[in-house]
Order: sequence, then C-alpha cells, then structure tokens
Amino acid sequence: MAAPERRGLGRGDRLVIATHNAGKLREIAALLSPFGLDLVSASALGLAEPAETGATFAENATLKALAAARAAGLPALADDSGIGFAALNGAPGVHTADWAILPDGSRDFGVAMALARARLGEPEDLRAWFTCCLALAWPDGVVETFEGRVDGHWVWPPRGRRGFGFDPMFVPQGERETFGEMEPARKDAISHRARAFALLAARLSKGAV
Ligand code: IMP
Repeated sequence: MAAPERRGLGRGDRLVIATHNAGKLREIAALLSPFGLDLVSASALGLAEPAETGATFAENATLKALAAARAAGLPALADDSGIGFAALNGAPGVHTADWAILPDGSRDFGVAMALARARLGEPEDLRAWFTCCLALAWPDGVVETFEGRVDGHWVWPPRGRRGFGFDPMFVPQGERETFGEMEPARKDAISHRARAFALLAARLSKGAV
C-alpha cells in the first residue's frame, strides 16, 4: 500500500480561492490573512465557474473546490453559502444566488431581497439564518468540508450598504445592526463564514489537512 501523501498548507503556499464573488473573496482574504498564504482567485486564473448542481451547501462547495483544484493543479478553497428563512421552510438556501438572477444573466441582490420580502408576506416567525460551507480540495481529489451557521432575524426595509448579498436584511442574534450596517471586522467575528473558518483554521494550525 502506498504511504499516504503528506498534505499541509503554511506560510507562502499557494491556495486558489474558488469564487467569482468579490464580496466573498474580500471576506475570505481577511479571514485567511493570519496564515500568510499566497492567495489567488479563480477569476484571476481564468477558471470557469462550474454549475452548482448539488443539493446541499457541502456538495456545491465540494464541486467548486475540486473543479478549481484540478484545473489549477493547486489546493483550492470554495465557499457555498446562503440564507434561509423560517417562514419559507429554509428557502432560498442553496438557491440563494439564483434569486438574484436578472433576465440578462446579471445578479441584483436588491431584486433578490425584494423577492424574498414578497414571498415572506407577514409571518409571525421572523427567524433567518446564514449557512456557509467551506471545502478545501487537493488536485488528487481529497476534499474536506467545514460548515458554520449564524442565526438571527430579518428586517424590512433593508439597512446598510456594507457587506454583500442579503446582508442588509439580516440582524444576527444579540445584535442591533444588520450585517449591512456593521463594521466588517464585527461581521467577520460572528458570521457563518467566520464560524466555518474557525473550523478550517483549527485544522490549518495543526499543520496538515
Ligand atoms: P453561492 O454560494 O455562490 O451559491 O452564493 C451564495 C449567495 O448567498 C451569495 O450570492 C449571497 O447572496 C448569499 N450570501 C452568502 N453569504 C452571504 C453573506 O455573508 N452575506 C450576505 N449574503 C450572503
């Protein structure tokens, strides 16, 4: 039997960030900054974006990370994330980005939030949550996933111009500001992405994944 390949990610190692979403890229770069990795985005490498055909965040993150790792011949990290509304039985969930697609193929999250608002009606249950699944993939097909979630409630009208996506209509539990209003560093301390990153960071700091 062949000895298992030793894997690791440390200072100066190249890591592909398999996203074409500028908001996610910014947050991922901030969350990874303590590790001193050499980050390169999938868009900078001209990598195609695979279709997100998975039924779960983990499946979609895995297929994005694997596609980028294989195409680049480098380890790759992907994020699949979205918002769920209790009154919509967890929708849009893995379909969050689709709710923003306009007829010309571009995305507008003002439109997506208005669509969510219209579908929500006037429910008693205002709970909402964001989920983020990170997948770290290697060119030979090994993948590991890390999932984080933040609970809160939705507000209308949307508030704040920071962040991205559904941030302006989401207030995390125990906070008064929406993710769209709060300092980026505060969001990075408590978000679904931060929680998934804490799990990834615990693995990275052990020196091997
Ligand atoms: P996907 O992971 O590329 O399928 O896209 C997920 C979508 O969920 C994004 O386009 C955002 O609209 C939304 N989303 C994910 N994370 C966040 C966040 O931190 N804030 C606001 N919206 C988010």
